[in-house]
Amino acid sequence: MRVGIIGGGLCGLSAAIHLARRDIQLELFEAAPNPGGRTRSFFEPRIGQWIDNGPHLMSGAYRQTIALLEEAGVSNHVTWQKTLHLALWDAQHGHFHLQPSPALPLALALPLSCYRMPGHGWSDIRSMLHLARHLNRPIENDTCVQTWLDRMGINRALIRDMLEPLCLGAMNEPLKTANAASFAQVLREAFANHDAARLGWFNKPLSEALIEPLSKLAQRRGVHLHTNSRIRSLQTHSHGIEIRTNDKTHAFDAVILALPQRAAHRLLGIREPVRTQRITNIHMWFDGMPALDYPFIGGIGTSGHWFFDVSAQMSVLPDRQNMHLRHVCCVISADSQHLRGQALVDKVSGELGKIVGTTRKPQFVRMVSEHHATTSISTEMRQTSLPATLIDACEAPSAGELPATIESAVQRGQNAAECCCLQLFS
Ligand SMILES: Cc1cc2nc3c(=O)[nH]c(=O)nc-3n(C[C@H](O)[C@H](O)[C@H](O)COP(=O)(O)OP(=O)(O)OC[C@H]3O[C@@H](n4cnc5c(N)ncnc54)[C@H](O)[C@@H]3O)c2cc1C
Repeated sequence: MRVGIIGGGLCGLSAAIHLARRDIQLELFEAAPNPGGRTRSFFEPRIGQWIDNGPHLMSGAYRQTIALLEEAGVSNHVTWQKTLHLALWDAQHGHFHLQPSPALPLALALPLSCYRMPGHGWSDIRSMLHLARHLNRPIENDTCVQTWLDRMGINRALIRDMLEPLCLGAMNEPLKTANAASFAQVLREAFANHDAARLGWFNKPLSEALIEPLSKLAQRRGVHLHTNSRIRSLQTHSHGIEIRTNDKTHAFDAVILALPQRAAHRLLGIREPVRTQRITNIHMWFDGMPALDYPFIGGIGTSGHWFFDVSAQMSVLPDRQNMHLRHVCCVISADSQHLRGQALVDKVSGELGKIVGTTRKPQFVRMVSEHHATTSISTEMRQTSLPATLIDACEAPSAGELPATIESAVQRGQNAAECCCLQLFS
């Protein structure tokens, strides 16, 4: 049996590794010079380092990704919090923390921890209990998070300091458009217990931490990886599927589409619009900048949503290497800012200066704006029906499903692999 996989991001790699357990000849086609897709790193010559397109956070609820990292023998490439700790900052209160006590069950510790944040109080406890009660109730597909929270009467301070940063971080979409059914699913999974609620970050660039180990595992298991191989067209026959690069045609018994929905539509000639969200990452290198109080800090009421101390996350001590520079990356989720270029850099470096308490300007800056960073949740019924041997693992989340994340990519890959086995062997 021969199976082709189109797309060498996490989804395609996860499908390949899963399928390679079976007696199948597997070929994976990636358009770029290297696999990785949106979890990719690139070399920054001015500082002589590999850096990521943007920092990626993991959650303890990412069970399939954690299992995949273990299978590749690289679970130590993620540094985990012992229990959830969100370090936050706003201009009025300065630094504050959402840090539920591990000594109490999470359902109790979380409201208490919100209650203790500055400007919060009993109304948080009431709101949290209210939210918990509503979490398992059905939500209409087209309800947005803002409407859902308003209907429940959730208090404003809790929305501003906890639910909005969570919605932006997990869904990459603002409250006014993010899908409430999917957000409820994120909350159910992320706050199931202390273990699920903790966050983790990669302690090496993504290519080294994640993509190389997964590509090597796939290759050790016999997967043939073609890079620089964009699939230009695809044709289904009664006996299988043919896919074409610029110069070659390959025939398979089944093909897995492991692409973002936009790329799949381009390949299949579908003209339906796909809603996506942008993420802007502003990498900044500072001379003599002290470490942030925590490896990542959420800014409330700031243009930059998260400030990642990449040097601290990667344990690169600025005084030992890299010309004494500290690497901080400011992330703007669901970026719809009007500011661009130097004006945006001045704005977020000014905010960072207030958070850290310095007036230093960055020595180097690199802005990476991913215009189609994530595919938004769709409330429409999916129209396209594909032949059974063309297996759809594309990123196209529907209402109530998990949003576009590392975990959903790994899950889509594994589900597609299982579906493929059913098609070929049943
Ligand atoms: C800046 C940024 C920050 C993020 N932060 C987080 C985070 O903190 N936590 C989290 O969980 N998720 C995060 N995400 C989301 C996460 O990176 C993605 O959901 C996940 O990587 C998607 O993987 P994928 O394999 O589905 O798609 P992709 O990674 O997009 O892979 C698809 C691959 O297909 C290739 N391709 C496209 N067309 C063709 C073709 N015709 N032929 C051959 N190959 C083709 C592309 O080159 C690409 O390599 C972030 C995303 C971005 C962009």
